[in-house]
Amino acid sequence: MGRVEKCDICPHSCVFTEKHPVGRCRVRGLGNPGYGMCVGLSVDPIEKKPIFNFHPGARVLSTGPNGCNLTCLNCQNWHISQQRSTAVQYLSPEDLAAMAMDRSDGLAFTYTEPTVWYEYVMDTAPLVREKNGIVIMVSNGYVNSEPLKDLVSVTDAWNIDLKGWSDEFYRKICGGDLITVKNSIEQVARSSCHLELTWLLIPGHNDDPKQVSEAGRWIKETTGENTTLHVSRYFPMYKMDIPATPVPLLNKTADIFRKYLRNVYTGNV
Ligand code: SF4
Repeated sequence: MGRVEKCDICPHSCVFTEKHPVGRCRVRGLGNPGYGMCVGLSVDPIEKKPIFNFHPGARVLSTGPNGCNLTCLNCQNWHISQQRSTAVQYLSPEDLAAMAMDRSDGLAFTYTEPTVWYEYVMDTAPLVREKNGIVIMVSNGYVNSEPLKDLVSVTDAWNIDLKGWSDEFYRKICGGDLITVKNSIEQVARSSCHLELTWLLIPGHNDDPKQVSEAGRWIKETTGENTTLHVSRYFPMYKMDIPATPVPLLNKTADIFRKYLRNVYTGNV
């Protein structure tokens, strides 16, 4: 029998074999082929992540792996999350950390799903922090608790997507599940990391006022009423072609969240 390895980073629990050497995220696999393979290297304001209430005004070198463990039908970065990119560049942890600190105030692992880059984040983040840089993770929260425990120990701030409030939504639209994401949010909130959340509002899919209300109450009870929440406007993308979120619906939904939370912002307007 050839080489077989099992991945325990996320609930997909992929098994790598010589016949199927790469997991669903297309980042991890036999020999860890996605290690250090960076896409989208650019310096962004921290507010673009979005992170509003941690080191405001900071600029962070932003990059991510070429793949993702979810398959959101409306993915805004589908060209690098759901398919092979030709613009991939290998950078060692030392090179990426040096580039981040030469050009900016730290590093953001973002654009696709950085938790599937577990080893690379664990190797690179401490090098940035050694130089007094900040390290940010922008994540879908679809990660098991053991690797997440390690990742929060080497990072400073997280923005986690709470994409909807039903398992059906997560299963049909994203290829994941709600409970894992809720557990991740709770775990990061309990850590010393700063946490903000993003709700991308898709008309007809995650705008039900009752579900929004339940989500707002859960956030308040779980991570506190001071949690920063970004309610962002959806635009047709990838496999979803329903029209963009009407701004009045965005404002109405943000107002429902404001019944529970003090720091609710609308985005992508
Ligand atoms: S991180 Fe990637 S390889 Fe690992 S279980 Fe999840 S989808 Fe599969």
